[in-house]
Amino acid sequence: MTAPAEKTNLLGMPKAKLEAYFESLGEKRFRATQVLQWVHQRGVGDFDEMTNMSKPLRDKLKLIAEVRGPEVVYDELAKDGTRKWVMRMDNGNNIETVLIPDGERGTLCVSSQIGCSLDCSFCSTGKRGFNRNLTSAEIIGQVWAARKTFMPYAPGPDRPITNVVMMGMGEPLLNFDNVVDAMNLMMEDLAYGISKRRVTLSTSGVVPAIDKLGEVTDVSLAISLHAANDELRNQLVPINKKYPIAELLAATRRYLSRLPDKRKATIEYTLMAGVNDHVDQARELAEVLRGLPCKINLIPFNPFPESGYERPSMNATRRFQTVLNEAGYIATVRMPRGDDIDAACGQLVGKVEDRTRRSARYIAVQQVSA
Ligand code: SAH
Ligand code: SF4
Repeated sequence: MTAPAEKTNLLGMPKAKLEAYFESLGEKRFRATQVLQWVHQRGVGDFDEMTNMSKPLRDKLKLIAEVRGPEVVYDELAKDGTRKWVMRMDNGNNIETVLIPDGERGTLCVSSQIGCSLDCSFCSTGKRGFNRNLTSAEIIGQVWAARKTFMPYAPGPDRPITNVVMMGMGEPLLNFDNVVDAMNLMMEDLAYGISKRRVTLSTSGVVPAIDKLGEVTDVSLAISLHAANDELRNQLVPINKKYPIAELLAATRRYLSRLPDKRKATIEYTLMAGVNDHVDQARELAEVLRGLPCKINLIPFNPFPESGYERPSMNATRRFQTVLNEAGYIATVRMPRGDDIDAACGQLVGKVEDRTRRSARYIAVQQVSA
């Protein structure tokens, strides 16, 4: 057998795809189980170490396949225990992946794209435009590489990564298939075995893709709302002009109603001083969310150079929260974490080169809705 020009990367393949791959090689489907366990449960990417496979099969795989994740350039530990990895992707772009420990829980914040085309006014990723989608190997590779830092891996309750949120760079629903493959691996018992309740996809509101998501998975859903009326949301989250609040909340309701269990959506609301932090706006938010099973996560704005926005005072933040609590909602304030290593929401930018022509920004959105 001669080596192909490009090896097939097995890292991002969920079980069904790996099984199909081995079948296409004339091998037994259970090889997929073995590879999944070696790669994702034991952090092994070298076929020579996969000793429950025959030598000829290992030699064959070495010729045509590989297990290749992002290269960790460096990692940093903040004073509060937040850990950040800078990972180099295939074309040399850097991605930042963050682990936020909180008691028993360790939440890994994962990116889906390099940059983002949706141009939300307060997001530094959006301000830098869109470069490209990450492959499923690059998405699950962030979990793989972070987890390998903690080798030897000991299964059990004290494992370092208990939750994953798709809240890093990019709009996950505009990289649908790769994100779904990676999330399937996160939830796969033979891989990471994270419960569907602990894998959360965050979206700024690509409505048709929310419905499509409900057809293929049952992960938890977070909606980046940030405003309670269309006039303001149009300015902050431009995709709202295409899919306004009423449609977004209706899609959220449809998604929740398909889930086999009773689960709430998370409503993310980034608080910006003088923009969306007035108590009247909290009342309006309470009104607009009435009847939706949800919890509200208030995120004090994380500043970046020339953003034009400011973080509200803690008093203003608490006042906003109190209105929501008194209206019967569970509303929490996400305390900025990892401030000293620039690991907070909206600060995970790396060096992104904008390849987007402004006029091309909505093409991806239109493709999804077509
Ligand atoms: N594109 C998806 C997921 C990535 S953004 C989405 O928009 O939901 C993850 C979260 O970080 C979103 O709720 C986003 O609004 C928030 N965010 C972005 N920039 C921020 C900033 N500068 N300060 C605080 N939160 C921010
Ligand atoms: Fe993209 Fe989310 Fe940033 Fe908006 S907030 S620009 S959707 S990454």
